[in-house]
Amino acid sequence: MPRVLIVDDAAFMRMRSRKLLEEHGYQVEEAQDGEEAVKKYVETSPDAVLMDITMPVMDGIAALKEIKKRDPHAKVIMCTAVGQQSLVMEAIMAGARDYLLKPFDPDKVLASLKKLVG
Ligand SMILES: [Mg+2]
Repeated sequence: MPRVLIVDDAAFMRMRSRKLLEEHGYQVEEAQDGEEAVKKYVETSPDAVLMDITMPVMDGIAALKEIKKRDPHAKVIMCTAVGQQSLVMEAIMAGARDYLLKPFDPDKVLASLKKLVG
């Protein structure tokens, strides 16, 4: 069962994503900011990460870079809002494997994960 780390500062977003992924056979871990995401990544080495960009404490771009330092093969999908194109570019340059626009389209979330972890 592939394991996915969901990182978002909004509890309802984590809840929605968890529900969707669990319904499709993924095992889910959660983190509510970038710092917690790095810690959970190291502890649980998930198969993929769904990473929000705008978060307190440590944002998604910084967390992506920290995770990539620890695991260059980390599969991180960035979750972005409209108007964050420059941040998406920065994330791709830093090694993000894909990005999803909020609000989430469940089919796109599942397609992106399937492509990365099967
Ligand atoms: Mg956010």
